[in-house]
This record gives sequence, C-alpha cells and structure tokens, in this order.
Amino acid sequence: MIINILDKGVSSLIAAGEVVERPVSIVKELIENSLDAGSKRVDVIVQHGGIQTIQVVDDGQGISSAQMALAFHRFATSKLQTIEGLDQIRTLGFRGEALASISAVSDTTMISRPVTQDIGTKIHLIEGDIVNITDQGSPLGTSITVSNLFANFPARRKFLRSPGAESSKIVNLCSKYALAYPDVAWNLTLGGKNKFITPGNGQLIDAFTGIYGVELSENMIPIKNFTGNDINVQGLISSTKINRSNRANIHIFVNGRWISSPLLNQAVTQGYHNLLPERKFPVCVIDIKLNPAEVDVNVHPAKTEVRFLDSSAVFSAVHQSIRQTLIEESGIPTPTTYEVSKKFSENVARSGSFWTSNLKSSENRTTNILESMIQHHTIDTDSQFSHVKVLPLLRVLGQVKNTYIVNEGPDGIYVIDQHAAHERVLYEDFLSGVNTSASQALLDSVVVDLESHLIDSMDSITDLLSDIGFVFEHFGDSSYILRGVPTIFNSSDPKDGFIDVITNLLRENVDDRRDAAVKTIACHAAVRAGKTLSLVEMQELIKSLEICKEPQTCAHGRPTVIHLNSNYLESQFGRR
Ligand code: ADP
Ligand code: MG
Repeated sequence: MIINILDKGVSSLIAAGEVVERPVSIVKELIENSLDAGSKRVDVIVQHGGIQTIQVVDDGQGISSAQMALAFHRFATSKLQTIEGLDQIRTLGFRGEALASISAVSDTTMISRPVTQDIGTKIHLIEGDIVNITDQGSPLGTSITVSNLFANFPARRKFLRSPGAESSKIVNLCSKYALAYPDVAWNLTLGGKNKFITPGNGQLIDAFTGIYGVELSENMIPIKNFTGNDINVQGLISSTKINRSNRANIHIFVNGRWISSPLLNQAVTQGYHNLLPERKFPVCVIDIKLNPAEVDVNVHPAKTEVRFLDSSAVFSAVHQSIRQTLIEESGIPTPTTYEVSKKFSENVARSGSFWTSNLKSSENRTTNILESMIQHHTIDTDSQFSHVKVLPLLRVLGQVKNTYIVNEGPDGIYVIDQHAAHERVLYEDFLSGVNTSASQALLDSVVVDLESHLIDSMDSITDLLSDIGFVFEHFGDSSYILRGVPTIFNSSDPKDGFIDVITNLLRENVDDRRDAAVKTIACHAAVRAGKTLSLVEMQELIKSLEICKEPQTCAHGRPTVIHLNSNYLESQFGRR
C-alpha cells in the first residue's frame, strides 16, 4: 500500500463533512458568525428546507474588502490568535473552518460592509473557488447566501431528509439561539412564511413569547437566582401544570452556547422528579454561566458537546435551582376555567331542601371547624416553615364522595384527594426513614405464584425487596412463600401488593428501583378513594400532608390539592 497526502480539495471536503452535515449545520455556523460579529439583528431566510437557499443577514461589524477572500480560507479566523487563547474562548466560532467548508459544497455569495468603508464588497464562490470579488453598495453588516447545497455531491445529497424535516431542524435550532440571545432581534422566514419574530429587548420571557406564544409563556417561572460555586443558573422553567411527551423543549446553554448534554437533561428531569406524571417532560430554558476555563468546548467540531471540569457541581447547581424554584413557586394548581354543568344547576334550583338541611347542621359544623383550628395550632413549629408556604394550614370542612376532603384555608377552598395525599405522606415517611425496613409478619403466610418472566429476573431484586421489608423464600420453581411485608403495607391483600411491587420494579426503564418500590408500596398502603373517613382521620391526614416536603403531588406526580381561590370564587359568583 502507498501512503499519499490527500490533495487540498479532497481534505477540505472531508473536513466539510464534519461541519456541514445538513442545512441546519450551515444555519448554525452562519448565525454564530453573526453573533460573534456583535449583531443586534439577525434575519434567517430559508427556501426548501435550506437545500435550495439559506440566507443570513446581520447588522454586525462586517468584513473589510481586503479580508473578504481570506475569510473563506481554512483555519482563517479573527477570533483566536494563540494557543493560550483556547482556554478563554468567549466567541462561538474559533476554528476558522465554517466558511471554507460551507463554500466547498455550495454556491456562496457574501456581501459585507464594516463601518470603516462607505461601500461594501461582494464575493461569489462556487464549490470553494472564488468566481469574483466586486464592490457593492450595502448596509452595515453582512449578508451571506448559500445555494444549491451538495449540487455536485450526490452521495451527500442522498442523506438529506425531506425539506419539511430539514426545516423543522432549522426552526428548532433558531429557536434555541433566539432564546440564548434575547438581546438580539431574530426573524425566521421559511419558504416565504414568517415563523417567528423576537423583539431583541433583552427580556428572555419576550423572546420566549415570540417563539412559543402567550399561553405557554404565562405558565413559565423564572429560575430563582441560584448562585453557588461560581456557577450561575438562570432561565425559565414550566410550571408543573405543563408537560410534554418528550425532551425536545428542554434547552440548555452554557455561557450562551447551546449544548446537548444527557447529563444536564437528567439534572433537569430530576429537578421535576415526582412533580410531573411519569414519562412527561417540562419546557425549560436554562442558561448556565461559569468561568470559561471550567468548560472544554473543543470536544466536538460542531461544538454542541462540552466537558466540564467539575461536572457534578454543574449537575447539582442545575438540579437544585430547578427544584427550589418549583417548590417555592409552583404552589397548588388553581383551576383556570370552571363550568357548572347545566344539569347540576337545574338540580340545585329544584331542590330547595338542599339549602335548608345544610343550614340546620351549620351549628355542628362550626364547632368542628373550631376543633380543627385548635388542633392545627398545636402543630410542631419546629418542622420546616418553608412547607407552610406551599400548603397553608387548613381547616377540614368535610368529605365529598368519600374521596375528597374539602378544607377552608387562608385564600379560599382547598380540595384534597385523600388517596393521593396519603400516598404522598407515606412515600415521604418511607424516604425519611420512618418505617424503613420495618417488617410485619403475616399471621398466615401466603404462597405467591409468579409469571415466568418475573421469576427469571427475581434474583436482581431480592436484596432490595428484603431491604424494604418483604420476608419471603423460594417455594418450588415458580412460587414464593410470603411471610412478612413492610410495616406500612396495607396487609389486606399482601399477595397483590407483593406482585405489584415486583412487576413495577422489573418494568423497563426503571431508573431508580428503590424509589419505584417505595412508590408502589405507598400507593398500596394509602387509603382508597371511596372510604369514609372520620373528622379526626381527615385532620390527621391533612396535618401530615402539611409537613410534607412536596405536598402538592402524590408520589406518581398527580396533584393532591386543587385550590379554588377567593378571587376565583368572587368572579364565579359575580361579586366582582
Ligand atoms: P470562525 O467563525 O471559526 O472564525 P468562519 O470560517 O466561520 O471561522 O469565519 C471566518 C472569519 O470570517 C471569522 O473569524 C470572521 O472574522 C469572519 N466572518 C464570518 N462571518 C462573519 C459575519 N457575519 N460578520 C463579520 N465577520 C464574519
Ligand atoms: Mg464561524
């Protein structure tokens, strides 16, 4: 075999393959150049998914006529002078490869004018060769048009998806930059139609509204300014009322650079742990600011992956800031609309007796309310005050449909789902060590038959099951004898509960098995909907919920409390 050095044309095409994979990678490089040039306005105009044309127009510092040709050379950059500079990179580009790579596989025209020139310059290249450079009248800034992508590279063209699919990648990317740079006015046009406009006034929420619309933006919460270990986390996160079925709307930026990071995605989803239903994800814009020397951006040519010097510090900064913000802010869901069904209002109108019977018993009720107030004032004030912020002290008024506990609180009516609330209480008890690993022996041990697919994987979870309080042993090929269950377990049907825990533990995609087991146990042990509770039982339950760390959802993320606030009641009764 003979070793040759590749000629310049071939090597630059190979390099181009790394940077210019598809239209969206070109858009990315061009808007990064616009941002590096200090632009305050960036227009992106795309035809046919970018396969036909991509145009990016900015009002940045421009390029002088003497440097226009140089900008298209490989490793030509104005952003990095020395190797020491690599540690302190604050620009988005620095490799000097993008324009060379893009122009190698397309038909490229750039018009630019810096403030030092009265007239601009236009350069036209076809597949890397300069066709001409001429003077051209131009506003301040740079306009670059990339057409006929991969026209002469059928092998590369083959890998492009449909224009629709390429377009949606472009929308996604431009949204990320518009969110990362709210001080820049963005305008994205696809196939002649405007996709979004942001005002460029520096307010993240306004950029967000431009992209996602008013309704979603009203459900976004600013991250509480969290600063620790020189890591600053800012941004917007969706309230727990909002969820999406995938992670596509979690946008993470490090020093203004969008990154793809499974680790930080995990930090975000863990921040919402138990606050969203399973397999649901939030909408988030998270900007992490830290010393550039703490991040290595030079890992991947497209610069979307980064390495942190101390990744666990970054992880916990993101996780904690989200968690704190949600706990403090999200509170309890309040209904936004409420329609009384026609049937219900007719029934009420007809049955006058409903009101009289209720009035008669009001004397009784008042004493109950007083009793419950007294009980509440004896709550252990050493327990953490912050919890009261989320769930105020409540007075139990009564039970509805043997399922919901209706309460009066400082701002209106609070309706609590008794099963969800009890599940939350038991779950937290278990996690905090109350009842952990305590086991109660069953009076009569029971034989439990397991399906073969469960039997095969039992070995992997026997230690965990024993650890949380199940006492059992093998009995024949496909059975176990169950002799004890966790103390908090509702022992009315230990067999079903045991099978349920095992089934849930062996489901696919269970990240944290212990947590999954505890949730199932809490659910089994919790009081069912439909069970009549005495006033004292209800008061006990509410009292325990009040001191929970996260009282607003059950262990599986469903709400425990619905709040009908005074404003809402007044507006529904026409008092305002
Ligand atoms: P890099 O961005 O890594 O420096 P590029 O190939 O993307 O490399 O660009 C080469 C050079 O061209 C940049 O360093 C910059 O000086 C100049 N340039 C490119 N695009 C613009 C723009 N929109 N406005 C001003 N200068 C630009
Ligand atoms: Mg660049």
